[in-house]
Amino acid sequence: MASPAKTDRRGKNAALGGPKTLVETACPLDCPDSCSMAVTVQQGKIISIDGSTRNPVTGGFICAKVRRFGERVYGPDRLLHPAVRQGRKGEGRFKRTTWDEALEMIVERMQAAKAKHGGASILPYSYGGSNGLLTQDNLDATLWRRFGTSRLARTLCAAPTGAANMALYGKMPSVTYEDFPDAKLIVLWGVNPSASGIHLIPYVREAQKRGARLIVIDPRFTPLARSADLHLALKPGTDVVVALAIHRHLFETGSVDENFLREHTRNADRLRERAQEWTFDKAAAVAGVQGSDIQQAAEWYATTSPALVKCGWGLERNRHGGNAAMAVIALPAVGGKFGVRGGGYTMSNSASWNIDRSWINAPEPDTRIVNMNHLGRALTEYQDPPIDVLFVYNCNPAATVPDQRRVLKGLEREDLFTVVFEQVMTDTALYADVVLPNTTFLEGYDFARAYGPLSLEIGRPVVDAVGESRSNADVFGELCARLGVLKEDEPGNELELLVKVLDSLPGTIGSDLRAGERPAPPFGSRPVQFVDVFPNTPDHKVDLFPAALDAGAPMGLYRYQPDPATDRYPLALISPSSDRTISSTLGELPRNDAKLVMHPDDARVRGLADKDGVRVFNERGEVHCELSVSPMVRPGTVSLPKGLWRRSTRNGFTATALAPDSLTDLGGGACFNDARVEVASLASA
Ligand code: SF4
Repeated sequence: MASPAKTDRRGKNAALGGPKTLVETACPLDCPDSCSMAVTVQQGKIISIDGSTRNPVTGGFICAKVRRFGERVYGPDRLLHPAVRQGRKGEGRFKRTTWDEALEMIVERMQAAKAKHGGASILPYSYGGSNGLLTQDNLDATLWRRFGTSRLARTLCAAPTGAANMALYGKMPSVTYEDFPDAKLIVLWGVNPSASGIHLIPYVREAQKRGARLIVIDPRFTPLARSADLHLALKPGTDVVVALAIHRHLFETGSVDENFLREHTRNADRLRERAQEWTFDKAAAVAGVQGSDIQQAAEWYATTSPALVKCGWGLERNRHGGNAAMAVIALPAVGGKFGVRGGGYTMSNSASWNIDRSWINAPEPDTRIVNMNHLGRALTEYQDPPIDVLFVYNCNPAATVPDQRRVLKGLEREDLFTVVFEQVMTDTALYADVVLPNTTFLEGYDFARAYGPLSLEIGRPVVDAVGESRSNADVFGELCARLGVLKEDEPGNELELLVKVLDSLPGTIGSDLRAGERPAPPFGSRPVQFVDVFPNTPDHKVDLFPAALDAGAPMGLYRYQPDPATDRYPLALISPSSDRTISSTLGELPRNDAKLVMHPDDARVRGLADKDGVRVFNERGEVHCELSVSPMVRPGTVSLPKGLWRRSTRNGFTATALAPDSLTDLGGGACFNDARVEVASLASA
């Protein structure tokens, strides 16, 4: 264990004495902001973590989550050396081993699996534990591609919105935080910056101070919803029809920009046809809000410029999440809101740097693609070939992937060889045959690329690697070498990879970073859409009705699929980001029990009271936790935080135990918010 006695819960250590140094680095975690950071170090240990002013968007402050990151670095759950399983899977009994023995065991099992069932019987499984360029999709990609393993469709989040953004605009760079104050109308649709991307808030507040109207569309009364001019608390999964009702209004009232549609778009008529049925009243009846409120939103949008729509990820997590994102980000094209600072749309800006990872000199094999939302199925049902080896890193699927019971059943398989390469003993690591200790971002180099603002920085090690932990690049480089898939002149460790990536970044990005300067994309760090940047579609036009997507979506584009609620399970369960974890990172830190938030009307009819112990259940499973009765969530909807670890609830299951593993209409994304549940008192059970 990593000397927890010397370090308090916040990673601070006042007793060390001696000089303190301030080390600059950057946050590569899965958050839009990628803050620049100032970390105070004393005697080689982290004393405190704060924001720096090097990045003006960070502005000297960071979230409360990462201020606690020292608790992960030195906490009791930290993995300090490689270990092999001793007890039953899930029990968490391990015996220390050496790196050499652990890596040799992995190499032998991978080679044996490949010899028996082919490379596709090995499933690498990773997600956004770090968005850093060095820790994800790098030497790991080289290893999996050249060894010919199954390929993973990384679709847990942002797949439907990404598919919509690609189809409509070719992922055109979108409005950055700094341009929000220029907007006269801001629509925050399915996004809660108070929990994720907190640095957007000062810019929204500044716009409000300058007189901008704010519309928030979210089933919860989020902090920004409380200060909004209009809050539409839609039923989960109904965003698409509300967006279509606004489109209908734009078309019907002559509020479309005909010149823009003619010059810059295709197929507006097809969108208009599909929007036609969605009157305000019809959309309101489906979405459970007042038709007059949708009308108000539509009228403000039609008559205000600059108007800015921020499309979040909350609206994509249901059966027609792709269509919802399409309809929302099509609004500025139909309403003629581009071409002015503070107008247009914004979502992920991760594609804006044109980083194509050309340094990975390994073509994709033609092997099986496994959708990561189907992990439970893959482990328990796939036969051609079966999954013999599972290699998990940068994620914690036992806690975060839909259909949790099936995932756990798969992880329990005695014939499955599971490797977990992690920083702490996660819910998934408990099921590993071999655990490998991983460095945190404070112990190594990386590139932190923001997907909200347009910033890119190098993250530097602020302390030495804790215990025997090693970086992703070092471990995957060594596995490549041991498996004979690393070429002689290729980088095989973190420092070599850092140099290679710096040399390979487009334009002057690499040289700017080397010189200690802040790089900007070629079009500048505050592009105006349709002035500085244009759609990256083949003809640089916005296709408002891509035929291929219409053919691929279950009911076609811009269609509404009925709510999956039943008489037995009438409540919509959402699991939004919280202010405690980044996805599930930091879920190990001690805190109170998870709480299910329920509206007072729903609690009353069920005879439930605040702080009651409750069962939240459906046909897939149940979660036992405390109830919080609050008007913070709309009637008919209940909310449990995203990213909970199994220890956070009373029966070891989280919201993912109730989520179906069905896929979204576009992009194959997760349908977390299609979970429909009932809630009852634990006492009565
Ligand atoms: S998680 Fe987001 S807000 Fe927190 S430090 Fe990292 S980038 Fe900044």
